[in-house]
Amino acid sequence: MMKTQALGGGAEVVQIVEFDGPTHDAQWMMPDATPAILEANSAWLRDRFWMPRTNRLVFSYQLWLVKMSDAIVLVDTGCGNAKQRVSPYQNMINTPVLDWMEGVGAAPEKVTHVLHTHLHSDHVGWNTRLLDGRWTPTFPNATYYMPRLDYDMFTRHEAQKMSPDMYDEVITDSVKPIVDEGMSRFIEDGDEVAGFVARAAPGHTPGQLIYSLHHNGEEIIFSGDVFHSPIQVPFPHINSRWCEDQSLARVTRGKLLEHAARTNARLLPAHIEGVEGWRVVRSGEGYAIGFDQPRDCGCGARFGTTD
Ligand SMILES: [Zn+2]
Repeated sequence: MMKTQALGGGAEVVQIVEFDGPTHDAQWMMPDATPAILEANSAWLRDRFWMPRTNRLVFSYQLWLVKMSDAIVLVDTGCGNAKQRVSPYQNMINTPVLDWMEGVGAAPEKVTHVLHTHLHSDHVGWNTRLLDGRWTPTFPNATYYMPRLDYDMFTRHEAQKMSPDMYDEVITDSVKPIVDEGMSRFIEDGDEVAGFVARAAPGHTPGQLIYSLHHNGEEIIFSGDVFHSPIQVPFPHINSRWCEDQSLARVTRGKLLEHAARTNARLLPAHIEGVEGWRVVRSGEGYAIGFDQPRDCGCGARFGTTD
């Protein structure tokens, strides 16, 4: 599934969704998202972001594509096809992502840059595809930018303690083939590539980066895995189980919320379906989201569009 939105000046952002639907048990994925919090916010969460009957969070796996006059940029590359993974949502999937990309004028050979927020399995999958039994770079003319800290950590054996399947095979089938071909560059906080500025966003992984694009008077932030659910906006203490440094992840989330609310930057999270993304607004002592439709979370925070 794809959704496209014009950014002005001939540029477009395209959300390419490999999977969208209820996946994980809410408290398994986010132990601090208590039943009481979810039920109190059911009016705006239910069905779109949380399925109350099964207590599953709605989650998407996706790629962000930005088409500009002089560059075609992918921010992260989803799960990819034919990869052996423990997660049933990622294991040996087969989606027509490349056909969809060709349909919007972004055939694989046209992609100029791949920017990684981090190197987890669901963010590097389309880096490669299986051709004649070999993992081959999918975007032959692109330069792939990888956070240096993540690469250093994920390629060290001790980093695999959390979830071995997220590292060993991922590096082998989706990262190393790119490095071996000389197509990768390291990227760090403050670096700028094709107009995208990398900002450190550690916590989910040590080297996680988010990417800020100023275009047509707007700041758009590709916010990676700082958020896995919109419930983390009014309740920023809620982490996912995959956030490796839990307290640092909260600090990073708080900083990004403060920045987004102050500057009216648009956030495009990695796991939320909806090409329009979020506007963050101040609400009492905390924050709320401006979605495309006004809604009331029922917890005292006011939700609605901000423009
Ligand atoms: Zn992720």
